[in-house]
Amino acid sequence: MANKRDYYDVLGVDRGATKEEIKKAYRRNAVKYHPDKNPNNKEAEEKFKEATEAYEILGDDQRRKLYDQYGHEGVGVGTGGFQGFRNTADFEDLFSGFSDIFGSDIFESFFGFGDIFGRTRTSRRERVKRGSDIRYDTELTLEEAAFGKKVEIHVTRNEHCKDCGGTGAKKGSGSVTCPQCGGSGQVRRTQGFFTIASTCPKCRGTGDVIKDSCTACRGNGIISRKRKIVIDIEPGVEERTVLRLAGEGHAGPQGGPNGDLIVVIHTKPHPYFLRKSNDVLCQVKISLFQALLGGDIKIPTLDGKKVKITIPPGTQSGRVLRLRKEGIPYLKRRGRGDQLIKVIVEIPKDLSSHERKVMSELALARKETDSPPLLSVSNFE
Ligand SMILES: [Zn+2]
Ligand SMILES: [Zn+2]
Repeated sequence: MANKRDYYDVLGVDRGATKEEIKKAYRRNAVKYHPDKNPNNKEAEEKFKEATEAYEILGDDQRRKLYDQYGHEGVGVGTGGFQGFRNTADFEDLFSGFSDIFGSDIFESFFGFGDIFGRTRTSRRERVKRGSDIRYDTELTLEEAAFGKKVEIHVTRNEHCKDCGGTGAKKGSGSVTCPQCGGSGQVRRTQGFFTIASTCPKCRGTGDVIKDSCTACRGNGIISRKRKIVIDIEPGVEERTVLRLAGEGHAGPQGGPNGDLIVVIHTKPHPYFLRKSNDVLCQVKISLFQALLGGDIKIPTLDGKKVKITIPPGTQSGRVLRLRKEGIPYLKRRGRGDQLIKVIVEIPKDLSSHERKVMSELALARKETDSPPLLSVSNFE
């Protein structure tokens, strides 16, 4: 993981590449390195996975932005947070061009998603297809991510029609042999040098069609329904956490199992607090005299308290003070991170003539030098 390649290098595009160029580059890589074309070739398989991962990030505007800004860490790779989110629907969309060229069956076997993405492979012989996943993005405030929230999710999903039990047939109606394929479940067509057999679109490969359609679902076996789901988001949840709710996605065609609901959690930027792992960073302005003489100040915390903190005398601008256990709670365990407070010393610009006089006397008493010592540039900011 330590020496992960840059995603732009992986796809062979430059950093200013358009979405279309990225998509094209990924297709080129996917076709070249696809395991079906390179059997028992570990290197090709790795290259394929690498390109796929790169595309998942660069093909998504939001994730690409994070990657551009923060590198692999920004998208949760290499920190143990990468959840390997895969959206089949995206891939089907991406390769829709191939499906036009090759025919859907060849497309499926060529891009056997199941093998590569660890899904159950769907084959024509099984005739049962899993429904698509639904992706749902939700945005929390930093406080909600820190202290947890019940989130109400409204999704419209395909469900099996209750009237016909998902068969699409009117009650008591039998089935007849498919007129388009004569019951074979396949249609053939010639394209260039090839004759391509593909699944019959009318009966979807079953060889039979329903005599009379169910009126509730117009024969599809599937109807669209709105659903409300409440998810309990636990305190301490991280940015881009992916929750997979098994079976809460779209129903599969012909009575196939449901896909999953995939909830991606985002956190809105906070105007005053920045999360760094489980610590919370903030900045506060203190006066020249507070810095010189020290004193107590009150600092707002993420949970809305005001906590007293002592500024030591002689505090330099940029010094970081720590409030223990006022940060983000740890996910699924006790304890919290800290709040780190960077103090910025404000030099007054509006001295009265009296103040100027007092300050000048102080400066004289301290014998200020006109040849200040040079400092190392190793930590230049
Ligand atoms: Zn129905
Ligand atoms: Zn047919």
